[in-house]
Amino acid sequence: MKPFTYERAHSPAEAAAAAARTEGAKFIAGGTNLLDLMKLEIETPMHLIDVNGLALDTIETTPEGGLRIGALVRNTALAADERVRRDYGLLSRALLAGASGQLRNKATTAGNLLQRTRCPYFYDTNQPCNKRQPGSGCAAIGGFSRPLAVIGASDACIATHPSDMAVAMRALDATVETVRSDGTTRGIAIADFHRLPGDTPDIETTLVPGELITAVTLPKPVGGKHIYRKVRDRASYAFALVSVGAIVQRDGTGRVALGGVAHRPWRVEAAEAEMPRGAKAVTGRLLAEARPTQENAFKLPLVERTLGAVLAEAKG
Ligand SMILES: Cc1cc2nc3c(=O)[nH]c(=O)nc-3n(C[C@H](O)[C@H](O)[C@H](O)COP(=O)(O)OP(=O)(O)OC[C@H]3O[C@@H](n4cnc5c(N)ncnc54)[C@H](O)[C@@H]3O)c2cc1C
Ligand code: SF4
Repeated sequence: MKPFTYERAHSPAEAAAAAARTEGAKFIAGGTNLLDLMKLEIETPMHLIDVNGLALDTIETTPEGGLRIGALVRNTALAADERVRRDYGLLSRALLAGASGQLRNKATTAGNLLQRTRCPYFYDTNQPCNKRQPGSGCAAIGGFSRPLAVIGASDACIATHPSDMAVAMRALDATVETVRSDGTTRGIAIADFHRLPGDTPDIETTLVPGELITAVTLPKPVGGKHIYRKVRDRASYAFALVSVGAIVQRDGTGRVALGGVAHRPWRVEAAEAEMPRGAKAVTGRLLAEARPTQENAFKLPLVERTLGAVLAEAKG
């Protein structure tokens, strides 16, 4: 591991200012992704700003009837929260489908949103990877692409976003709250938070350098049945090949977001109009622009069948 310096931040604004001031600085929260990447020298921050001491670990009800989830709320605490289980079951289920109990005890809300791809070539420093080393090429294109993206990819990168939680956040219309280095704050709609790879797959979100996530806000509950179904190679402790997060109302309308298919959680609001007509109609609209590789073309029928099972479960 490359040497680095370390400090503990005492306030969100101070953390953001320190990150902007110090070249090569990164925040560290649970460390369950960043430390692995540092050990492999995929990430080589020169300075770590530990945000664990910031008072961002509470879940509060908002005046609008939603929830404000602090950036440092651990995945375990979020999944177990009574209000989340009752009103945002999709979020609780998606969290519990991810990682392991030990990891969820450490992993934070902000860190989960910002975890990096699991593309195997991103982890293999002997291989070209535009995300790890911009301009070096993409070993996955023409290589092993089974777990990778079928939609929204580019000639520079076909990676997927690995987070289960982010799929639920997308279906729930979450907003990411931040503070920037000059102390100003903003809210970023989750739809605008994760980027598609384009020519710059190394830039994964719309955060600016030094910008700290302080919370994620959920609007008031929308009711309906909340279902998260994750298809993976092993029954547990594995990332999604495909996942479907859905909220289905009594009349068959609702919302659908997908994981495991794109560089960000995939949701096409227009496709949701097809929900009463069934999985085939929704998938046709959701994945209309899909460009799978030979190795991952199986994901298209897999999405349709998984969504079919979800809609059947909702009816049942
Ligand atoms: C073996 C294994 C299996 C896993 N399986 C799954 C799975 O099935 N599904 C799934 O969804 N996830 C899975 N994960 C990933 C896990 O969910 C993430 O590692 C975790 O959520 C990251 O959170 P963290 O707090 O540890 O982030 P960290 O590792 O501390 O940080 C991650 C990134 O977020 C940045 N960051 C952290 N906090 C902030 C903040 N407040 N503001 C701005 N930037 C910040 C850091 O600088 C870093 O770039 C797995 C991980 C492992 C190791
Ligand atoms: S798909 Fe993206 S992450 Fe994977 S090798 Fe290509 S550029 Fe790197």
